[in-house]
Amino acid sequence: MDIERLEESPKSAAEQLAVETQLLPGVGPQRAMLLERLGLRTAGDLLFFFPRDYQDLSELKRVDQFVEGGNASVCGVIEEIDLRNTGAGRTLLAILVRQNLNHFRAIWFDQAFLREKFSVGQRVLLSGRTKNRGLRWEMFHPRFQLLSSDEEPASGQIVPVYPLTDGINQGLMRRILRQVVEQYAAVPDEAFPPELLEKFGLCPIQTAIRQIHLPSSLAELDAARYRLVFQELLVLQLALGWRRNRVTRASRAPSLPATAKIDSRIMRLFPFELTDDQRQAIREIADDMQREVPMNRLLHGDVGAGKTAVAQYAMLLAVAHRYQAVLMAPTEILARQHARNLTKSLKQSQVRIGLLTGSLSASQRDGLLEDIAEHRIDLVVGTHAVLQPEVRFPQLGLVVIDEQHRFGVRQRAALRRAGIDPHYLVMTATPIPRTVTMTLFGDLDVSTIKQLPPGRPPVHTYLVPQTQRTRWWEFFRKKLREGRQGYVITPLVDEGKSESIASVERSFEQLVNEELEAFRVDIVHGRQKSAERDAAMEKFREGQTQVLVATSVVEVGVDVPNATMMTIENGERFGLAQLHQLRGRISRGLHAGYVGLFASPASEESQKRLDAFCSVSDGFELAEIDFQLRGPGDLFSGQQHGMPPLRIADLQRDGEIVPRARAAAQSILQDAPELEDPSLARLRRLVLARYGRVLELSDVG
Ligand code: ADP
Ligand code: MG
Repeated sequence: MDIERLEESPKSAAEQLAVETQLLPGVGPQRAMLLERLGLRTAGDLLFFFPRDYQDLSELKRVDQFVEGGNASVCGVIEEIDLRNTGAGRTLLAILVRQNLNHFRAIWFDQAFLREKFSVGQRVLLSGRTKNRGLRWEMFHPRFQLLSSDEEPASGQIVPVYPLTDGINQGLMRRILRQVVEQYAAVPDEAFPPELLEKFGLCPIQTAIRQIHLPSSLAELDAARYRLVFQELLVLQLALGWRRNRVTRASRAPSLPATAKIDSRIMRLFPFELTDDQRQAIREIADDMQREVPMNRLLHGDVGAGKTAVAQYAMLLAVAHRYQAVLMAPTEILARQHARNLTKSLKQSQVRIGLLTGSLSASQRDGLLEDIAEHRIDLVVGTHAVLQPEVRFPQLGLVVIDEQHRFGVRQRAALRRAGIDPHYLVMTATPIPRTVTMTLFGDLDVSTIKQLPPGRPPVHTYLVPQTQRTRWWEFFRKKLREGRQGYVITPLVDEGKSESIASVERSFEQLVNEELEAFRVDIVHGRQKSAERDAAMEKFREGQTQVLVATSVVEVGVDVPNATMMTIENGERFGLAQLHQLRGRISRGLHAGYVGLFASPASEESQKRLDAFCSVSDGFELAEIDFQLRGPGDLFSGQQHGMPPLRIADLQRDGEIVPRARAAAQSILQDAPELEDPSLARLRRLVLARYGRVLELSDVG
């Protein structure tokens, strides 16, 4: 290939940035292969491969310049490495570093894995807060960087720290990136029209790219980062808003007002006073359903907060207008439970309920489909089976979706009849921090139920020390003898692998032979046939089984009021949200609940998480704590919504930018609901490239 000719001909930005890494100066085929492991194939990939951190070498110090509690970066040579167990499964790693004639120690707790990064004689750069310990200075959990023997970090610089892969060290990565930035930083096209750059106070993309890699000052770095974070969050909010416009604009739904008469007829059916939060949610839903555009609302509330009552109101509102309603649950167990509860609470009404799941016989199914099509059924409860094309709803007014966060445009299309859409209500019992709700579910309106219905017995949660386990089991058995039931939860060590099922089965064997020998114990896990699992759940619900040994399959929605006891094994393996969901299983009856948590926390964070779980019972508060401890982590990786992770924005750190980006997106979409304005063409392309598929923004049939 004739590189010179390539450079002469005028090329678009996209073409220029598509140059393969192996053609870049200082890279070559071998390093290109290493870069590929980081997903870096082109010059453009490198340009948008941002540092994960920075070292501020304007703080570069000598040990004799340290001050107590101050920040310092310091270079030295490792003289000793010491890794020790400190009891209770904790470890301490200390390295002794020499700088000229002075020594200091760097210390990490519970990060034994760092041991192999260090070797005696290695030069390191450490940055952190300095502490005086008598004769010696120490740094706890400093950031560090290994230096080659000839590498001398220049003072007065802010130096990028990149993610690495084997074979490419920090120094090499910096040299490669510096070259790429020098050569290509001016190439990317500006996605924002000038008036928007001005309006949102953003620096141009070319500046942002250069400064994010090679900051000339902290202020410049901040401005660059702000621009890139804002852009990422704006693109996401544009995608969510666009989806929202797509789902609701040009769709029509039946107007179903809650007249005073209808309202009092529905309210009479509740055997309890609704809570204020429930009433508020009902008002918001009724407002939506009165409109001729489809409702698109998330009902968000802790386990047991009474979401079903609110959904029941919405469904009866549809039925009162002679429309049908669907309640869709993620599993057969839950669908059946909903059908049973609704049948009970609607006994006094004329409402006709049908249960449509995958396990009906052919003739039952045909009969039910005919009843639905002839509108002899008002309320259909079911699993995904309700979405099949053979299910014909002559008058569908409302779809309620339990515990499934994102409902596809295609799935919606399957339920649309003759250009009329039903209203949609999505329910979730996973408390989610506000910033995250706005980010992941920004295409929905949100109603939140925070307060629990009155008179709920408390659930007590204990972190059971090793020495107290016998006593815990004694207590557990005592409650069983009093007539209560219980769960024993064990984690799936490695989801999908048979050995992890073995661990559940081993626990089961052991319990049956030891702690719970005298009781009727059964087992459920995700690898059983669903009929087998359902049968076990059913026996437990009926009280034939006293204890259920289970993996987290009992997590969602299962309701057995007599079950008040729960032992959780290896509690450190569960996330806080998941623990809270599990605890929700035993907060449903008349009796106080008890959770005994067996755990060996592996880190400080895991200890904090378990402490929070034991001392806080409010799911929203726990969600905020979890978010502070861990960031949004697995909320993004969950397959519930399949949203790609954010690359530069950090919802913990950049939480304040989220509402700003959201407001900006709304103002842009007001004039261009699908970004159709030519001046927005580049922004539109960015939105489609990242979210087009997952949010179904491009055309679907
Ligand atoms: P969620 O679906 O939010 O987890 P449910 O709707 O299943 O909660 O409600 C849990 C329990 O609380 C049910 O037994 C329900 O009958 C009861 N319940 C709901 N609302 C109230 C209320 N306002 N007062 C008393 N009990 C209520
Ligand atoms: Mg529920």
